[in-house]
Amino acid sequence: MYESDGKNGIGLRIGKFIMIELDHTFKEALPIIEKIEKAGFEAYFVGGSVRDALLKKEINDVDIATSAFPAEIKQIFHKTIDVGIEHGTVMVLWGGDSYEITTFRTESAYQDFRRPDKVEFVRSLEEDLKRRDFTVNALAMDKNGHIMDYFEGQKDLNNRVIKAVGSPQERFHEDALRMMRAVRFVSQLGFTMETNTQKAIADHHALLGKISIERISVEFMKLMQGKSRSKGLELFIHTELYAYCPGLEQHKDKLEKFARFEGSLSTRSAAWTMLIHFLEIPTAEVTKFLKLWKCSNKEMHEVQLEVKTVRSRLTHPYTAVDLYQSGLTIALEVEHILEQMHFPANIELVVEQYENLPIKEKKDVQISGNEILAALKIKPGKWLGQLLEEIEMLIVTGQLANDSEAILSWVKNQSGIGDRSVN
Ligand code: ATP
Ligand code: MG
Repeated sequence: MYESDGKNGIGLRIGKFIMIELDHTFKEALPIIEKIEKAGFEAYFVGGSVRDALLKKEINDVDIATSAFPAEIKQIFHKTIDVGIEHGTVMVLWGGDSYEITTFRTESAYQDFRRPDKVEFVRSLEEDLKRRDFTVNALAMDKNGHIMDYFEGQKDLNNRVIKAVGSPQERFHEDALRMMRAVRFVSQLGFTMETNTQKAIADHHALLGKISIERISVEFMKLMQGKSRSKGLELFIHTELYAYCPGLEQHKDKLEKFARFEGSLSTRSAAWTMLIHFLEIPTAEVTKFLKLWKCSNKEMHEVQLEVKTVRSRLTHPYTAVDLYQSGLTIALEVEHILEQMHFPANIELVVEQYENLPIKEKKDVQISGNEILAALKIKPGKWLGQLLEEIEMLIVTGQLANDSEAILSWVKNQSGIGDRSVN
């Protein structure tokens, strides 16, 4: 497929390679490749962006691989950030964007199934592509749109197959996360899994136990949001990877039921919400479950609210209090989820109902605790918070006008308030 050109060791016989029209995302990065080449090194687009370009999918960011060592890249470009220099990655700031440039490298001696003991920088593109996970991710493209394909990646793209580069057993022993990555690519791309690759996952699924939850979670969320989630989940269950994921071990049947749900889940919170719903986790235990997955406090809070909202919405239309507590974003997301469940949803009605709420948040209440204390000359206490909450709910439900005078006169009529008076 390639021959020596007597200069850089390997030259490519262009005629044999597919050439594609460069998308603007690649075009914007071309000056970077040209600058590296001018300095006497090789540089290519690699990985996901090349795969997605060949699939005619939208490209978000491009990764560049180069024969230049990190120190050499830092000499070529003025503005760089050391984002992962020990792994050969330097971030270059260029034209208002940032690009990750990674030196060709090999990885060796994986003793703990999760990270290479040694990363070695090399000058050969082929060596670099060899360490990549799947054939469709082991493609490179030069500045003219010529594809470099040493492992039949294009054939597998055409056949829509996820296949490990080299021996799948070895590759999964090197880094067990690749097993999760394989099922997430099936889910994202709708591909099938090559037989030996799938068998190796089924045989070695227990290695996933060596991988940190944080890394598993990234891939799991991508799996959950993929267009072919059902396909990905079926493999995730069939190969028994699920047994090494927190809170899923005991729930094979429920996961299978979830795998039959075809609706799309386009956000992380929608994905967590539906998973939790299918797993039948009680609303009060949502946070405990998400903690196992090391979710952030913000995400835990959001998902818990979303789960609660879906469940109440499945039993009755939104009340003013439901909508006030969920907020518009979550309420709309829940309507989208309901649509996916073929449950009658009504987005316009929800927007209208929300707009008609007398207040949208606590700070909209036209009186403060201090104002109540000053007007009534009473001492503060625990009761004040409860009173303010009561006022808030009365306003939301339209039982009290959001007006300081009306609120004060309501407060004055409450029995027991006078007992706290200062005088
Ligand atoms: P996405 O579109 O989701 O970002 P991607 O293919 O770009 O997909 P990344 O996780 O961004 O995936 O990784 C970029 C590239 O790095 C991959 O295409 C692959 O070539 C390589 N890669 C990433 N993780 C691994 C891994 N664990 N083992 C081997 N190669 C990997
Ligand atoms: Mg990527």
